Amino acid sequence: MPCLFCSIIAGEIPCHKVYEDELVIAFLDIGPVSTGHTLVLPKAHAENLEAGSVTDAECLMLAVYAIAPSILKAVGADGYNLGMNHGECAGQDVMHTHLHIMPRTNGVPRSFTKTHPSQDELATTAEKIRAEILKVG
Ligand code: AMP
Ligand code: ZN
Repeated sequence: MPCLFCSIIAGEIPCHKVYEDELVIAFLDIGPVSTGHTLVLPKAHAENLEAGSVTDAECLMLAVYAIAPSILKAVGADGYNLGMNHGECAGQDVMHTHLHIMPRTNGVPRSFTKTHPSQDELATTAEKIRAEILKVG
């Protein structure tokens, strides 16, 4: 069975993309635990971090560094949880390395329960994030 995230990267399955460079792509999680929940992943398929290249591992964190502040601004959040589920035992469902950026807001209880926003809501959030990323170049 083809990898879901490779299909998204190839443009065969739509996503709400917020960032892309040569090696990395970031798009909204369709089951966000908070508004702006973003997945960041290397474009090269690897089942987990160590199965991929060191360069991809570095670029993954560089992408978080570059875009997380814009995500927080776009959704009015104050901080974020950064997560990686490595292996089925850790809850990894999609076997293509990815980081979860989960925005958090002061005074709002942290939840790891998935929500189900509409495509329109996700599109609006993605647009706001892209606009903030554009501002910082
Ligand atoms: P993990 O459990 O760490 O493998 O996370 C996989 C994540 O991918 C889950 O949080 C899902 O909600 C998310 N997901 C599944 N299908 C899609 C999709 N088509 N577009 C965006 N996110 C997805
Ligand atoms: Zn893949």
